[in-house]
Amino acid sequence: MSQTPSNIQRAAVIGAGTMGRGIVMCLANAGVAVQWVDNNPQMLEQALGAVADTYAHNVRQGRIDQAEADARIARVSAAADYAAIRDVDLVIEAVYENLELKQKIFRELDGLLKPEAILASNTSALDIDAIAAATRRPQQVLGLHFFSPAHIMKLLEVVRGAQTAPAVLEAALELGKRMGKVSVVSGNCDGFIGNRMLNTYVLEARKMLLEGAYPHQVDAALQGFGFAMGPFRMFDVVGIDLQWRARQLSGIGQDVPEVQVDNRLCEMQRFGQKSGNGYYHYEPGSRQAEHDPLVDALVLEVSEGLGFHRREIGQDEILERCLLALVNEGAKILQEGIAGSSHDVDLVYLNGYGFPADKGGPMAWADQQGLADIHRRLMDLETRQGDHWKPARVMGELAAAGKGFADH
Ligand code: NAD
Repeated sequence: MSQTPSNIQRAAVIGAGTMGRGIVMCLANAGVAVQWVDNNPQMLEQALGAVADTYAHNVRQGRIDQAEADARIARVSAAADYAAIRDVDLVIEAVYENLELKQKIFRELDGLLKPEAILASNTSALDIDAIAAATRRPQQVLGLHFFSPAHIMKLLEVVRGAQTAPAVLEAALELGKRMGKVSVVSGNCDGFIGNRMLNTYVLEARKMLLEGAYPHQVDAALQGFGFAMGPFRMFDVVGIDLQWRARQLSGIGQDVPEVQVDNRLCEMQRFGQKSGNGYYHYEPGSRQAEHDPLVDALVLEVSEGLGFHRREIGQDEILERCLLALVNEGAKILQEGIAGSSHDVDLVYLNGYGFPADKGGPMAWADQQGLADIHRRLMDLETRQGDHWKPARVMGELAAAGKGFADH
C-alpha cells in the first residue's frame, strides 16, 4: 500500500463558507500551501477577500507583521476544479451538511487524487464511515471536526472511522499540533464526543423551560457555575433558525415539545443575535444579551399550552440536571470506547464548550464530587424522572470499586 504522508505540505479545502474560511487560515498559518475550491466562484472570491481582511486586521492589531501576513496569503490560492488539486497530501471538505453531496465529492476526489492522499470531512454530525464507503480508500478517510470560528477555537475532534489507518490518524494529529490545536480522537457516533454530550445537556435545559424555569434563570445558574455562556445565550449566538430550518427540511422532530419555544421564536423571526432578538434582546450593533419579558411570556404560554403545571425550579436543580446529563453521557462515551480517556472528554469540554477551566472538565468535576455520590444522585433522578437518567454501567462499576473516571 502507498505510504501516508506523515508531514502534510500541500492541502486543499473544498467549500469557502464559514468553516472553509477558518480552516484555510489554520492551514496557511501552519505553513501549509492550500488550494481552495468552491463551486460558486463568487463565494470563493469573497472568501479570499475575507481571509486577506482578517490578516490585515491581525497586522493592525500587531499580532503578526506585514511580511508574515503576505507569506500566509501567498500560501492560499483558488483552484478552478478538482483536477487542479490532484497532487495534494490532504483534502478537507467543508460543504453543506448533506451526506449525498459529501459522498459525491469524496467519490470524485478518490478517482483523481494520489492513492496516499488523505480525505477528511468537517461534518459535525454525519457518519464518517458512510462518507468513507463512497471511496476505494476508506483507510485514508477520517473526520476533522473544527469548531467555529475555526481559526480561533482551539479544539479539533479527529474522528476515527472504522477503517481509518493508524498512520492517517497520526498524520492528522501531527497536523493538529502544527496548527496549534488541542486535538482529541473521537470514535464515529452521532455528534462525536462534544455534540453528543451537548445534546443531552440542552435537552434538560429545554425540559426545564417547559416545567417552570425561564431562559435567563437557566443561563444564570450555569454561568454562575462558571460556563462561558448558558445554553440559551449559546443558541442566540449560533442562530436558533439553523436547527429549525433543518427540522423543516427533514420533516423530523418539529412536533417534539422541547423545541416548541424555538419554533415560536423562529416564526417571529427571532433567530438570535444576528436578527437583534432571540432568547434575548440585542440593541443594534451590540452583543449584550438583555432579558426580554416577552420571551418569558412566550415560554409560559407554550408550556401551559402543552399542559404543563409549572413549578419553581431553583438553581440547584438546574445545575444538577444539566451537569449530570453531561457526566452520564460522557460515561457512556467512555464505556463505548468513543473517547480514549476521561481526560479526552474533559479536553473537548474545556476547549470547545466553555466548561469552567478551574473545575477541570465534566468528568474531573464528577471525580471530585465522588463517583459513588454522582451515581446515587443519578439513580435518584431515575426514580423521580424516568429511565433516561439510568446511570452508565461503567459508572456503577467504578463507584463500587471506589474509583473515578480517571482510573478507567
Ligand atoms: P456554509 O454554508 O457557510 O458553506 C458551505 C460552502 O460550500 C459554500 O460556500 C458553498 O458554495 C460550498 N459548496 C456547496 N456545494 C459545493 C460543491 N459541490 N463543491 C464545492 N463547494 C460547494 O457552511 P459551513 O457553516 O461552513 O459548514 C460547512 C460544513 O462544516 C458542514 O458540514 C457543517 O456541518 C460543518 N460544521 C459547521 C460548523 C458551523 O458552526 N458553521 C461547525 C462545525 C462543522
